[in-house]
Amino acid sequence: QAKDQGKNQYEIYTPSITNHTYRIFTLKNHLRKAIEFDEFLLHFQPRINSQTEEIVGVEALLRWYHPTFGHVPPNEFIPVAEEDGQIITIGEWVLDRACEQNKQWQVLGLPPIKMSVNFSVLQFLKRDLVEIVRATLDKHKLEPIWLEIEITESAVLENNPYILDTIMKLQGMGITIALDDFGTGYSSLSYLRKYKIDTLKIDRSFVMGIPQEAESFEITKTIISLAQALKMNIVAEGVETAEQLKALSEVDCNEIQGYFYSKPLPALQMEEMLRGKTIK
Ligand code: C2E
Ligand code: CA
Ligand code: CA
Ligand code: CA
Repeated sequence: QAKDQGKNQYEIYTPSITNHTYRIFTLKNHLRKAIEFDEFLLHFQPRINSQTEEIVGVEALLRWYHPTFGHVPPNEFIPVAEEDGQIITIGEWVLDRACEQNKQWQVLGLPPIKMSVNFSVLQFLKRDLVEIVRATLDKHKLEPIWLEIEITESAVLENNPYILDTIMKLQGMGITIALDDFGTGYSSLSYLRKYKIDTLKIDRSFVMGIPQEAESFEITKTIISLAQALKMNIVAEGVETAEQLKALSEVDCNEIQGYFYSKPLPALQMEEMLRGKTIK
């Protein structure tokens, strides 16, 4: 009987492992060609001032449209790209396009906004990150104050003097740094003391429970007062409902990002929205 069970497990378990491994292997290979084959695109999601409803910035979000796989979500391919270091090249592509786009909007005479770009911690571990960022800004003649770099908390970030130094150099240039998915990572508080982070982005998992879940709302309020005390800018991510927006505005969350205002949009649609300047 035990033998039968063993056989069953083998039959059920192994193919799924194989499919998963195969999927990752395949994605990895096709990712290598994605830039060359022009399969990447940036979408942009606005960040809104909760008081004035002005668009203060946009976050660049990478999209991969593969001819046979279709749309592969970043939550699936970014970890794959991090696994074998491809994220370095991909990240540089994202930065280049995001800066180019922001400059283009300024040249068109649109109200200047901050462009937020997601960086993998791996990019911070590469020795020439500061030079690459500087060169990219120069190339597009974009002033550093219009660029924000988003990074998620991680163990690497916590105890790495090199990363701390890189962050300070970037800030010294005038670039701002945002801590993404705030509240979900590990030992968030201890490193707010070390790093002079400019912006905290409250993770969507807290915003989701607002206002009905007392715990989520309390944690959110605590993060907001912490950010205010440390003079940081605060963004609530994943705001989907009018109730969430109202509750967050009442506790002075200064910026809002989420489907309630807008999903991430292709460049042309974002441009149309920027022409209107305010979201409504
Ligand atoms: P993230 O940086 O936390 O980005 C926010 C994600 O939440 C985006 O998913 C966005 O579309 C989604 N979102 C925004 N508002 C709402 C909302 O109201 N409701 C819901 N349900 N979702 C909302 P997306 O674009 O699928 O990206 C997922 C993650 O992939 C990002 O999470 C980020 O960690 C990563 N990512 C995306 N682009 C890049 C990139 O260029 N470089 C790196 N390193 N990571 C990226
Ligand atoms: Ca982000
Ligand atoms: Ca986030
Ligand atoms: Ca995330």
